[in-house]
Amino acid sequence: MQQTARTVVIHENGGPEVLRIEDRPIGDPGPGEVRIRHHACGLNFIDVYQRSGLYPMDLPHALGMEAAGVIEAVGEGVTHLTSGQRAAYAAGPSGAYSEARVMPAAQVCPLPESISFRMAAAMMLKGMTVEYLFNRTTPLRRGDTVLFHAAAGGVGLIACQWAKSEGITLIGTAGTDEKCSLAQFNGATHCINYRTEDFVQRVAEITGGKGVDVVMDSIGADTFEGSLNCLKPLGMMISFGNASGPVPPVDLGMLAQRGSLKITRPTLFTHISDHAVCQAMARRLFGKVEGREVKIHVDQEFPLDQVADAHRALEARQTTGSTILLP
Ligand code: NDP
Repeated sequence: MQQTARTVVIHENGGPEVLRIEDRPIGDPGPGEVRIRHHACGLNFIDVYQRSGLYPMDLPHALGMEAAGVIEAVGEGVTHLTSGQRAAYAAGPSGAYSEARVMPAAQVCPLPESISFRMAAAMMLKGMTVEYLFNRTTPLRRGDTVLFHAAAGGVGLIACQWAKSEGITLIGTAGTDEKCSLAQFNGATHCINYRTEDFVQRVAEITGGKGVDVVMDSIGADTFEGSLNCLKPLGMMISFGNASGPVPPVDLGMLAQRGSLKITRPTLFTHISDHAVCQAMARRLFGKVEGREVKIHVDQEFPLDQVADAHRALEARQTTGSTILLP
């Protein structure tokens, strides 16, 4: 059955003004695919990188990596989903900023009744990211200390609560005192306003000069150097984003000079490329939410046709928690 769906598409890289809404044809799912009608779509910083050109994509390009809705049709060979079922996903290929789409089924997950579409669209990509950062990137034990930048953001507020639920001390950073209070209310043991305070010095004070076991840094250019200076010898730097711009080339020798530091640059998409792993990660996240260990903050909602305003707010650091688009 041929139908169309309003979809956010870019034909060139640039600012939020390049975002356009178009009617795009969608057909029936092929083998291994589903057609899903979205009730809510998630906004993520990766969408900004793709729009601006920091992450180059073939053009024209439909944006969006995360959504929740109802399965309308199931292609041959798909056994974990049925027509009429509630579902949610964080996955490529992008195209989630839309009313509906046909996509590969492997990373689409059955959604428990207790979790609303809005909440699911706000947490799949960000929550599964926290799952792999805390469980799959480096061994973290109860009592370890992590420095987590942008702790009041979408990934950040989930990380604060996740850390608390696992007995990990999280030192957050955020751009305003209000954001710091929010991060602490959500489980950060400390939070440093890194626009008014020197976070390296504050981390040294908080840890009695020892430093932290792990840094989770999604800010990139502005914080990378300082983050390394917060680590204990043998500590692990997890560089997982570049909200302030990409990290400059690294001289590996300086890792030795600073005490045999380790460094990794992971992405969610490696982890969820395996169907079974992806489904297990989603179930773990759903368990945290259903068990009330993690509350999802849907702090901003925009109609799909105001997607440019949503991007402006995210880039201007005006948001907290998650932002969703309503088709
Ligand atoms: P956030 O809601 O955290 O928004 C980004 C935040 O970064 C801002 O609110 C702001 O918080 C902070 N920031 C600091 N400097 C800047 C700057 N120059 N411009 C804009 N923001 C800045 O976004 P998300 O939750 O969507 O993503 C958080 C980060 O995690 C992103 O960098 C994203 O790319 C990364 N990520 C990586 C994944 C991976 O697997 N590698 C997967 C998912 C996300 P403040 O005002 O408090 O400084």
